[in-house]
Amino acid sequence: MKFSYKILLCSIMTMAMALGVGGYFFVNNVFEASIEREVGQAMDENSILQFAFETAALNIPSKYDMLQNSAIKEIGSSLEKGGQGTGRLLRLSDENREILYASEGFVEDTALVSGIGEQTRAYQVIFVDGHYYIQTGAVLHALDRVLYLETMRNVTEVYAERARGFDVYRRLTLVLLVLSSVVLFFFSSWITRPIRLLTQAARKMTAGDYSYRAEQVSHDEMGQLTRDFNHMAGVLEENIHQLEEEVRAREDFIAAFSHELKTPLTAVIGYADMLRSRKLDEEKHFLSANYIYTEGKRLEAMSLRLLDIIVTKRWEIEPQEVPVEVFYSYLRELYAEKSGSDFVFTYEPGSVRAEVDLIKSVLLNLVDNACKASEEGDRVEILGHRQEEGYFFAVKDYGVGIPAGELKKITEAFYMVDKSRSRSHNGAGLGLALCGEILKLHGSSLKIESTPGEGSCFGFWLPTGGCPENTEGGTRAQGTLLPGEA
Ligand code: ADP
Repeated sequence: MKFSYKILLCSIMTMAMALGVGGYFFVNNVFEASIEREVGQAMDENSILQFAFETAALNIPSKYDMLQNSAIKEIGSSLEKGGQGTGRLLRLSDENREILYASEGFVEDTALVSGIGEQTRAYQVIFVDGHYYIQTGAVLHALDRVLYLETMRNVTEVYAERARGFDVYRRLTLVLLVLSSVVLFFFSSWITRPIRLLTQAARKMTAGDYSYRAEQVSHDEMGQLTRDFNHMAGVLEENIHQLEEEVRAREDFIAAFSHELKTPLTAVIGYADMLRSRKLDEEKHFLSANYIYTEGKRLEAMSLRLLDIIVTKRWEIEPQEVPVEVFYSYLRELYAEKSGSDFVFTYEPGSVRAEVDLIKSVLLNLVDNACKASEEGDRVEILGHRQEEGYFFAVKDYGVGIPAGELKKITEAFYMVDKSRSRSHNGAGLGLALCGEILKLHGSSLKIESTPGEGSCFGFWLPTGGCPENTEGGTRAQGTLLPGEA
């Protein structure tokens, strides 16, 4: 059964019970008050008759010492006649409860008079021939006689009134229930509307529409529930998109990986087949073997890089406070013997919190890329700048640059802007992916600025350590623009 119908049914049942019980008590209360009033009047009537009888008995001329039965009957008859038109019924009994006089229609039962004592007056409600009566009984002293006077008062109208009251109340209850059912129907559907909207939203989301949100139609607990549901849906949607993104990236990675593996392997297999199947002259033999060697080396480099990335992804770092000079002197020593580019170091002294070897690897990759992108003799700048939020490292070159559309993709594994140029430098598009992973471990990321034909600048922030070291080589060239200062 629908929740709104349950609310409707419960409300109707409660209302029906409340109206029924309330109505019953109300009508019954009125009835009891009326009966009490009628009993009072019946008892008063009995007292008046008693008084009238005694007066009449005193006025009867006494031939004998005792009040004769015939005189009693006579007084009884005259009392009944005196009350004609009022429906007064009376009965007179002697000391032995023998009936001396009874109005026509008076009940034959003498149980009430049998129970009356000297000092008592009694009454009871009786039902005779479809009529209700209040029967009263009292002891009567007339001269030397002790008599019993009983009266009967018709109260059928009071009972009929009660029946009419119940009937009217029943009809009223029915009308009220029908009217309130209509109102309650709309009320219960209004109150359960947020639930219907939530169900609809849940179904839409189950069907794949993750962006669907439940409409909030109230500001009570149901409104709060809708807000919480929508918030939960938002978090879920974000997680789902993230998972989808991760799955896509993984698929791209696998596709790129197989491609990167297949290309050098095809060449290696081709050259190896040529070497084993025919006799080549010395020069061709050397070229083939060299090709196999270079491609083999490239595959080796690629597998080492991949291993680095996988290891880095599962790693927790233990950062230490390192003077930045450590990195600059490492690069200076490494590239001192390599000719081809003009390396310029412009940096401020300082210290950072980092894993030395990992950051060395990042800087090495960036300088390597800068060299690969530059022409022979071009300047490559290694820059360092200290600010309140951290220390900024940058590698700037004046080489080929990167088109704006490619900037986002170059940190993806296996992505190369110019494949043949990268491959000719033993590249496999894994260097920046590795840099990204290492910087992620340090809570940082790569900042890239590049203009095709003019050059690129790759930089990243690291948290600064304690007091800056006063390094010997720490110089800052005048007029050099660092990315952090732009
Ligand atoms: P690779 O091993 O090919 O160098 P990377 O992940 O380091 O792989 O770089 C991805 C691609 O980004 C490179 O193939 C190159 O096309 C481009 N790239 C990286 N650094 C630079 C740079 N300084 N100037 C121009 N292009 C660059």
